[in-house]
Amino acid sequence: MKKNIFLFLLLGYAFLLTACEFTPIEPGSSNGGTQLENTVRENTNDTDSAETNSTDMDSTETNSTDVDASTDTNNVDAEDVLDQVDSSDREPLPTSSDNTSGYHDLLSPIDPAQLGLTPEMITENQGLLPLLEHLISVQYNYSYGEIGYVEEADSIYVLSNKLNHLPADYVPNDLVEPNIPFYFSEALEKKKLRSEAATHMEELFAAANEAGYNLLGASGYRSYATQKGIYENNVANRGLAATDKVSARPGHSEHQTGLALDVTLESLSYRLVDALGEMDEGLWLKENAHQYGFIIRYPKEDTSITGYSYEPWHLRYIGQDVATFIYTHDLTVEELYVYIESLIEENTGL
Ligand SMILES: [Zn+2]
Repeated sequence: MKKNIFLFLLLGYAFLLTACEFTPIEPGSSNGGTQLENTVRENTNDTDSAETNSTDMDSTETNSTDVDASTDTNNVDAEDVLDQVDSSDREPLPTSSDNTSGYHDLLSPIDPAQLGLTPEMITENQGLLPLLEHLISVQYNYSYGEIGYVEEADSIYVLSNKLNHLPADYVPNDLVEPNIPFYFSEALEKKKLRSEAATHMEELFAAANEAGYNLLGASGYRSYATQKGIYENNVANRGLAATDKVSARPGHSEHQTGLALDVTLESLSYRLVDALGEMDEGLWLKENAHQYGFIIRYPKEDTSITGYSYEPWHLRYIGQDVATFIYTHDLTVEELYVYIESLIEENTGL
């Protein structure tokens, strides 16, 4: 009898050890995190967290779905591409209006005629052809009060926002850790980016360093499950309406695409704060990120377009040509996509 009790106690003790060892307090996770991580959390849309990462695989300059388009874009005329579009070829994304009440309150309609663009600006810019072909093949949702369910999330042009939801099981298959400094040392999923974005993020960081600025990576790839934990934690703390104004619902976070990285500075105590936008580093990013294929995804004056408040720290990779066009014409991703969608519809007589 005593022997059994002793054996039982020994077993219990062994079990205790395992649980503690394998459930560390993850930075920024919904179970609280340490003091340092909490100071980072300035905008719930970008609270960071940790999970195991996915598999790694190399990819070429533009990803699998866009390779064919980019390789022969030199011989293809955008006008021809538009003329050849047949409305029956286009399948709108499946949509749902479930749980959308209040979620789109911040958004106001985009009028393509008010964006200062002309069809020639799109059709005569060869660098935009892969994007045009992508938007012909994927008809994202642009209607408020509905959510479109993205099926193919593997393009560098993928749109995840309050109107378009990524597949819950989507994990990019080419996540790698860019060779850049982060404000933390642990090997966490949030150090990862898609291979193409990682390559160009290294170039951007090197150029910033050359200019005298020491940027730090804060939060890259974030799984659907991680975003779900963050969102639910915020709803529990702030309530649904307040959370929906600042936090991405699971499936709607651009971090799940592996194409976005939040950056911070030591002088900001590693926080994600609007002040970055007024600092030399933030101004440098605003004026130069496009040269490496990145945009400041959530600009200060465009909350009613993007649905998120100003985030000078959130960099989205979208390829140099599209990033430069967005920068040059002072657009958001949503405005450019809505404009191109209107061009496509004009051409298909929809
Ligand atoms: Zn972000």
